[in-house]
Amino acid sequence: NAEIPESNVDVLIIGAGPAGLMAASSLAHLKVPFRIIDRRRTKIFTGQADGLQCRSLEIFDSLGFADRVKKEANHMMEICMWNPDPESGEQGIRRSDRIPDTIVGLSRFQQIVLHQGRIERFFLDNIAKYHQVAGLGPWRGVERGVVPEALEITAKTDGEGEELYPVRVKLRGLSEDEAGVKQVNVGAEGLGGKSVGNIGGDGMFRSNLGDHEKDEEEEEEMMKRARERGGETEVVNCKYVIGCDGARSWTRRALGFELDGEATDFIWGVMDIIPITDFPDIRMRCAIHSANDGSLMVIPRENRLVRLYIQLKEVTPDASGRADRSKITPALIFGAAQRIMHPYKIDYEHCDWWTAYQIGQRIANSFSDDANRVFLAGDAVHTHSPKAGQGMNVSMQDSYNLAWKVGLVAKGICKPSILSTYQSERRRVAQDLIDFDQKFSRLFSGRPAKDVMDAEGVSMEEFKDAFLKGNLFASGLIVNYGPSNLVIKPGDPAEQGDGSEKSRRLEGTPHSITEEEFAKKQALAAGLPVGMRFNSFKVLNQACARPWHFQERLKLDGRFRVVLFAGNILAPGQKERVQKFCDRLNAPGSFLRRATPRGAKIDSVVEVLTIHSAKRTETELLRDFPDILHPFDPHYGWDYSKVFVDDVSYHEGFGDAYKNYGVDKERGCVVAVRPDQYVGWVGDLEDFGELEQYFERFLVLANEQ
Ligand code: FAD
Repeated sequence: NAEIPESNVDVLIIGAGPAGLMAASSLAHLKVPFRIIDRRRTKIFTGQADGLQCRSLEIFDSLGFADRVKKEANHMMEICMWNPDPESGEQGIRRSDRIPDTIVGLSRFQQIVLHQGRIERFFLDNIAKYHQVAGLGPWRGVERGVVPEALEITAKTDGEGEELYPVRVKLRGLSEDEAGVKQVNVGAEGLGGKSVGNIGGDGMFRSNLGDHEKDEEEEEEMMKRARERGGETEVVNCKYVIGCDGARSWTRRALGFELDGEATDFIWGVMDIIPITDFPDIRMRCAIHSANDGSLMVIPRENRLVRLYIQLKEVTPDASGRADRSKITPALIFGAAQRIMHPYKIDYEHCDWWTAYQIGQRIANSFSDDANRVFLAGDAVHTHSPKAGQGMNVSMQDSYNLAWKVGLVAKGICKPSILSTYQSERRRVAQDLIDFDQKFSRLFSGRPAKDVMDAEGVSMEEFKDAFLKGNLFASGLIVNYGPSNLVIKPGDPAEQGDGSEKSRRLEGTPHSITEEEFAKKQALAAGLPVGMRFNSFKVLNQACARPWHFQERLKLDGRFRVVLFAGNILAPGQKERVQKFCDRLNAPGSFLRRATPRGAKIDSVVEVLTIHSAKRTETELLRDFPDILHPFDPHYGWDYSKVFVDDVSYHEGFGDAYKNYGVDKERGCVVAVRPDQYVGWVGDLEDFGELEQYFERFLVLANEQ
C-alpha cells in the first residue's frame, strides 16, 4: 500500500518490559539506532518482579546505574527457615535455621529487592542519556500503544544479494479502547475496607508509596502521543528484530514457535502489604512451612512493604488444568497467610498490590528464526514460578547477552556467525532455570515430612540444602557458557549448545582444543574460568593509586578486552616477555590494528588493559610499560586509565587480585574478555597467535572489509 509510510531502523524491539529495556539500553551504549514499541500505554508502577540477583547488579553497573538501584532497594542479609514446632503439637511454627541471603564472597554486590517499576524508570533514564551521548539524537521514548501486525523476513537473508533491512514489520497505533490494557487480578475487591494503592483510569495499579513524580509527568506526555498515534499504521524495515513481548508473545507466534511444558497444580497468591505483626522475622527473607496449612515466603521490601508469597491450598485446578482465578480474593489469600503464620498474628491496613498465579514451567523450542534476524528474549521464551526471583533477572540477562551481538553485527564489527551463540548460550540457561524451578517449587509447595518414615513429605534438611544450592544458582553467577567461537574450550559447539543443525551451520568454522591443552591454559588463570563472567577484585590505578573494582573497567560499550596480567614487570626476563607481546600487538598487520577502523582510536574495538604485580611505588608507567598499553593521543596525551597494579591501597585494603584470579605473580598470563564481561580465552604471553586467531574468527578485520 503506497499510502503507508515506510522507514528503516537497525533494530526494532517489541515490548518494553525488563528484557526489552535492557536491549534498548545496551544498544544505546553501543551507539546502534533502534526503536522500541509497547502495547501498554504506561510503564509498570508497582508489583510484579522485585528480586535482583548479584549478576543483574553487576550488569546495571556496567550500564552505569547500579548505584541508583542499590540506594533505593531493600538489602536482604539473612534467610530464616521456619518449620512446624514439634513442641506445640503441629499447631505452631518455630525458627529452625538461619543462612546468609547471598553466599559470602560471590560478588561485590548482594541480592536486593526493588520493584520492577523502579527498575524500568532507571532504564528509561539511562536510555535517554546514552541515546544522546551516542549521537543518535534525543530519544523519542518507548513508543506506547503500538503493536506489530505483520512480520515478514525476506528470502534474501543468507549470502548473495542480501538485503540490508530484510525484516519488514507492519505497526499499528492502538485506538483508545484497545489500549486500556489491565494488569491481571489487580483491584480493590475483597480487601475488606483496607486501603489500597490507587487504580488509574486505564486499570493500571499505582502505588501510594514512593516517588513517582517523574513517572506521572512523563505519563501525561506518553498518553498524549499514544492517542495521536491511535489507528495509524506504518512499515518499518529492520536489520534485526528482538521480540521481548512477554509470556503471550506475538513475535513468538508470528515465528510459529511453541512453548513446551505445562502448568502445575500449585496456585500461589502474592500480596505487597505494610504488615502489622508480632512475627519476629518480618524484616528477614523467610521460608515458612506449616504442618498442614501450606507454605509462605516473606520478602522484606523497600518503603516498609513486605511481599508475601502464599500457597493457596483451597484453590485447585479444574479438569482442564486451569484454576478459576476469579474466586481468588485478597481476603482468601491473607486468610491462608494468617493460618500458616499461627500462632503469630499478622494484619495490615495498606495493601500496595496483589495477584495470584498458577505455576507453569515452559520453554520455547527455538529462540530465533533460521536466518538469525528475529530473536526472542525473556518471558517470551521461558516462564516459571516467581518465587526464586529469577524472572526479571534471567529475562534481562537474555537481552544483555543478545544486544551486543546484534549491535556489533549491525555495525559491521562482528561477523553474523556470532548470532547463533545467543540460542546456544541462553537456551541452556533457560532449561537449567526450569529444572531448578521444578525442584524448588516442589520442595516449597510440598508438605513437611512428619518424620524420616514420611516418604511423601518434604524433609526440611533437603529443603535447606536446596535453598543453599538454590542461592548459588539464583545469584546468576554460575552461568557457564559452552564452547563456541566466542568461548574457547573443549567440546563440539553445537553439542554443547542447543544441539541444533542451525547452530552447527551458523556457528562458522569451530575451533578445536583438546581437554589437555585447555587444562594447561585454564591453569594460568584458575580463578577466571573460560565461559564464566570476569570476577571482580580491587586493583590500583598505576598512575594515581586510586582503587578500582576491576569490573568497573569492563563497562558495556561494545568493546572486547584483552587483559594482560603482566606479572612482575620489574624482573628483566618478564619485562622482555611483555615487550615481545606488545611488539606483536603493535605490529602493522596485528589483529588489533586490523580491527581498528581507519582513523579510529586503537582501543575502539579491542581495549587492552594491564594488571601487574610489581610494587606500585617502584614502577613507573612511562618507563616500564610499552606505549601500546597506555596509548598516546596528540590532543589528550598519555592514557592513564589502562594500567593497574595488584598492591595495597591507602584506604581500601588489598584486593589480592593475582591470588584471587589464580594467576602466577611472576609470569602472568593473557585473558580475552567479551563485551558482556564473559571470559572467552586464556593463554600465555607467548600464545599471541592463538589470541589473534580468537579474534579473527568473529571480528571483521581490515582485509575483509
Ligand atoms: P514482560 O515484563 O512481560 O514485558 C513484556 C512487554 O511486552 C510488556 O510491557 C507488554 O506490554 C509488551 N507487549 C506484549 N505484547 C505486545 C505486543 N503484541 N506488542 C507490543 N508490546 C507487547 N517475577 C519475579 O521474579 N518475581 C515476582 O514476584 C513476579 N511476579 C509477577 C507477577 C505478575 C502478575 C507478572 C505478570 C509477572 C511476575 N513476575 C515476577 C515475572 C516478571 O515480571 C517477568 O519475568 C519479567 O517481567 C519478564 O520480563 P520481560 O521483559 O521478558 O516480559
